[in-house]
Amino acid sequence: MKPFGYVVPPDQAAAVALVTGRPGAAFLAGGTNLVDLMKLGVAAPDLLVDVAGLLPGRIERTPAGGLRIGAGVRNSDLAADPRVRAEFPVLAQAVLAGASGQLRNMATVGGNLLQRTRCLYFQDVSKPCNKRAPGSGCPARSGEHRNLAILGGSPHCVATHPSDMAVALAALDAAVHVTGAAGPRVVPLCGLYRLPGEEPARETTLERGDLITAVEIPALEYAGRSAYRKVRDRASYAFAVTSVAAALDVAGGVVKDARLALGAVAPVPWRARIAEQALVGRPATAEWFGRAADAELAAADPLPDNAFKLTLVRNVVVRMLSVLAGDAP
Ligand SMILES: Cc1cc2nc3c(=O)[nH]c(=O)nc-3n(C[C@H](O)[C@H](O)[C@H](O)COP(=O)(O)OP(=O)(O)OC[C@H]3O[C@@H](n4cnc5c(N)ncnc54)[C@H](O)[C@@H]3O)c2cc1C
Ligand code: SF4
Repeated sequence: MKPFGYVVPPDQAAAVALVTGRPGAAFLAGGTNLVDLMKLGVAAPDLLVDVAGLLPGRIERTPAGGLRIGAGVRNSDLAADPRVRAEFPVLAQAVLAGASGQLRNMATVGGNLLQRTRCLYFQDVSKPCNKRAPGSGCPARSGEHRNLAILGGSPHCVATHPSDMAVALAALDAAVHVTGAAGPRVVPLCGLYRLPGEEPARETTLERGDLITAVEIPALEYAGRSAYRKVRDRASYAFAVTSVAAALDVAGGVVKDARLALGAVAPVPWRARIAEQALVGRPATAEWFGRAADAELAAADPLPDNAFKLTLVRNVVVRMLSVLAGDAP
């Protein structure tokens, strides 16, 4: 591993200034992703700027009835919060579906959002990878891509975003509070991430030195009827093959409103807006849930070994929405 420095700045402004002004510097929060990547040689910062103690570690009620979650809140504490569990079960379930108890005790909200893809080639420095080494190629397209993207990929990259939490936050219309060299700003969660296009190495809309300080979830009347379902190769401690975050508002057997986001199918947490529109005003039945999934998946461009995700996503969407509608156990 390359030698590196370690510093705990006195405040957020000093942390932002350090990373903004030094190309080799990186923020360190829980370290559960960054340190692994350093051991693999995928990341090689020359200075770790420890922000874990500088980020808010509280979850607060907003005046409008939502929740503001400090970026330093540990994943375990987020999943255990009684307000999150009761009002936004999709979020608590998504967080608990990720990693292991020990990792969740360390991992922070900000770090979880910015964790890197688990594409095997990205993590192996002996292989080409456009994301890690721009212009070197994408061996995944003709190689191992079973778990990679069917939506939103490009000829240059078909990696998937690995976070479970981000999928739930996408469905909940969360906003990300950021502070940077130009001061604070708020970015919609779905606007935080970039599709790969011709520049897979640029994964977010953040600038160097931008520090995530909090995530805000607006109140959503029917979010109590929400859930997260993760399909994976083993029952725990595995990244998703496909996941679905959903919330459903039904009255008189008709869908009044719906939120749907998909995980492990795209380079970003995928808000399924086409499906949402196809659901509103329609009967809350498996037939119409399937039609909504089909509408969203019409734009899919799977590779030979991940085309199975089309059926998988459809089945999970239909099942989850049926459960939320009260038509399935
Ligand atoms: C074996 C294993 C299994 C896992 N399984 C899952 C899983 O199933 N689902 C899942 O969702 N996750 C999973 N994870 C990922 C885990 O949840 C992440 O590693 C963790 O959430 C990252 O949080 P952290 O605070 O440790 O981030 P760090 O590792 O400290 O940082 C991650 C990145 O974010 C940057 N960063 C951190 N905080 C901020 C901030 N506030 N502002 C700006 N930049 C910041 C860092 O510079 C770094 O680039 C797994 C991890 C491991 C090791
Ligand atoms: S899919 Fe993306 S991350 Fe994976 S090898 Fe191709 S360029 Fe790299």
